[in-house]
Amino acid sequence: MAYDNNNIFAKILREEIPCKKIYEDDFVLSFYDINPQKKIHALVIPKGKYVDLDDFAVNASNDEIVGLIKGINIVAKKLNISADIGKGYRALANISEHGGQEVPHLHFHLFGGEKVGKMVQ
Ligand code: AMP
Repeated sequence: MAYDNNNIFAKILREEIPCKKIYEDDFVLSFYDINPQKKIHALVIPKGKYVDLDDFAVNASNDEIVGLIKGINIVAKKLNISADIGKGYRALANISEHGGQEVPHLHFHLFGGEKVGKMVQ
């Protein structure tokens, strides 16, 4: 699938629409999900134009891949949900149709602040 420059997260990255920003660096932007499913529901997205995790794995640079993984950990620490300073969380990426992905720009959901329940319902 080709990357859609008009997806909502592309617009957030271009600052055409606002977000409740949590963290930003050269590789990632993190902000709160507009429709939280748990007490804490954050999103972490790469700044590069990647449709999903498969696209990212094949086409992202090593620096981008490291930057995204590190970014998830930095955000978890900022939110006090990382395993070392909090009680843990779930990081989840939906991929394409069967994965239930709605926004076609790779993103990880970070759910925490409470027990997040069964992995798949
Ligand atoms: P997914 O189903 O994995 O593609 O998840 C997309 C997520 O993006 C959903 O949890 C939405 O609530 C969230 N979302 C959609 N639009 C926005 C927005 N403008 N700001 C923050 N989160 C959004």
